Amino acid sequence: MARIGLVAHDDKKDELCAWARRHRVKLGEHELWGTGTTGSRVIAETGLAVNLLKSGPLGGDQQLGAMIAEGRLDVLVFFIDPMTAQPHDVDVKALTRLATLYDVPCAVNKSTADAVLAFI
Ligand code: PGA
Repeated sequence: MARIGLVAHDDKKDELCAWARRHRVKLGEHELWGTGTTGSRVIAETGLAVNLLKSGPLGGDQQLGAMIAEGRLDVLVFFIDPMTAQPHDVDVKALTRLATLYDVPCAVNKSTADAVLAFI
């Protein structure tokens, strides 16, 4: 069982929820963690159990980063919106930086997320 973090920027939340619906059975075998809004939407749209952190801009990205630094997260699925500036850009960078530093698989789009999920 892997511990998977789920995050999506606002314009990517529909995409992440569709991805989670498509992989509902497989995701159900794992321990899921989500930033507040993303996680709540995944729960509402898939019925999956997701442990909720704070909303991303309010510290949720940093909580996921801390989980990575402490060895408590195995995979990060982070659908980033490449077309919109984020007010919490520093947190976004910090999270992807820690995933890189600790060699945690970090899927920032659907095809990578498909590949990572097929691998675990
Ligand atoms: P949210 O945070 O799921 O609470 O919207 C996502 C993000 O970091 O933008």
